[in-house]
Amino acid sequence: MSTQRTTREWQQADSAHFLHPFTDHAPLAAKGARIIERADNIYIWDSEGHKILDAMSGLWCVNVGYGQTALVEAAAAQMKQLPFYNAFFQTATPPAIELAERLAQVTPPQFQHVFFTCSGSEGNDTVVRMVRHYWASLGQPERQVIIGRNNGYHGSTMAGASLGGMSAMHAQGGLPIPGITHIEQPYWWAHGRPKGLSKDEFGLVAAGWLEAKILEVGPDKVAAFIGEPVQGAGGVIVPPKTYWPEIQRICDKYGILLVSDEVICGFGRTGQWFGCETMGSRPDLMTFAKGVTSGYVPLGGVMVSDKVAKVLIEQGGEFEHGFTYSGHPVAAAVALANIGLIQEQGLVERVREDVGPYLAEQFESLRDHPLIGDVDTCGLMGAMLLVKDKTTGEAFPSELSVGMVCRGHCFGNGLIMRAVGDRMIIAPPLVMTRAQVDELMALIRRCLDLTLVDVANRGWL
Ligand SMILES: *Cc1c(COP(=O)(O)O)cnc(C)c1O
Repeated sequence: MSTQRTTREWQQADSAHFLHPFTDHAPLAAKGARIIERADNIYIWDSEGHKILDAMSGLWCVNVGYGQTALVEAAAAQMKQLPFYNAFFQTATPPAIELAERLAQVTPPQFQHVFFTCSGSEGNDTVVRMVRHYWASLGQPERQVIIGRNNGYHGSTMAGASLGGMSAMHAQGGLPIPGITHIEQPYWWAHGRPKGLSKDEFGLVAAGWLEAKILEVGPDKVAAFIGEPVQGAGGVIVPPKTYWPEIQRICDKYGILLVSDEVICGFGRTGQWFGCETMGSRPDLMTFAKGVTSGYVPLGGVMVSDKVAKVLIEQGGEFEHGFTYSGHPVAAAVALANIGLIQEQGLVERVREDVGPYLAEQFESLRDHPLIGDVDTCGLMGAMLLVKDKTTGEAFPSELSVGMVCRGHCFGNGLIMRAVGDRMIIAPPLVMTRAQVDELMALIRRCLDLTLVDVANRGWL
């Protein structure tokens, strides 16, 4: 980048040429994009010089925080040594091999093999083809159906968006693709609380929806179930602790493959290396991306358990699938440096034993705020629900977009907190200190107070 421009100039060039992901461009052009120029630790700076606490880790990915020179140096050294070579022609590069080996060490013991992709979406596309190929190799080609969940997020490619359960995404482009169906999400506030169920009772009921769907489709037609241990983009929906063990029992009962989408929950986010370890499931496949490189360069993949790998290797023949950049040496070198840093700094243990419990305690204290109906945390991810009346649990009408009002106050006060409907969510970098949690909580309280005044002034209370 060679030029220095004013914010306005950047915004004009942006709206003239840059189509953004998940963006309505007419209002963006009227307002102008916020231009982010640099970052360090848990903070980013915009082109107007504002310092902003990034409580979303970029997009759920900068787990080790910004400005880690170990990752930068690993990339530079690998680019000088060998910037690219592929893994198609019975070839491999040392960083890709070493990363495969390292991933086998940090993932649960059933995983000894990995298939590399460039993103989480491509990882989930790979899952669709791999599970269908697995069953076909076992002589059960009629096992095609994959069950996902409403409001789940598994990426934005044709298969990723189909596995996900975002209705707005399905409404564009003819989705879902055939052979994918969905069950309701384990969201106690919406589905369990109105029926007077305890969280643990509701967890069993919600897992039971999987069994009902398997019976409806026909058990011999179901290939796999896919879910995020904690739903991220759906609003940080932390399932009751009874949920995943019961999902595991049901998958085992019908011999269905369990796929854990660890794109957000992997690499320490929940206080274990992977979310399935926190939630108590034993997946056959695991998708990862985001935190594997802390977002410094794109990388994703699928961990393949011994049970599946054995069939693919011994009976599958050639798997007609792969990407130019599968096992990209620069991405692999950065991932190795990133995993090294997570280990050296004990970040997973810090999330589990120190900063995670501290954040949970602080979030609990938000329950006294007049706008807060419920809070949830898991490791270093958290959500708070904005409600109109906390005694009855009455929601704001959705067309008011109260979450977006709150998000506006956050932006205006140096805090990135995301809104999913009326759930305000965070997933800060794992390097965050207790003092920074205090700073975050002060910002959150200020923004909630401003939202309360704003909402009252608009006559919405
Ligand atoms: C972000 C995300 C994806 C998609 O990853 P991309 O790298 O954006 O393709 C898939 N699954 C989950 C759970 C995610 O959060």
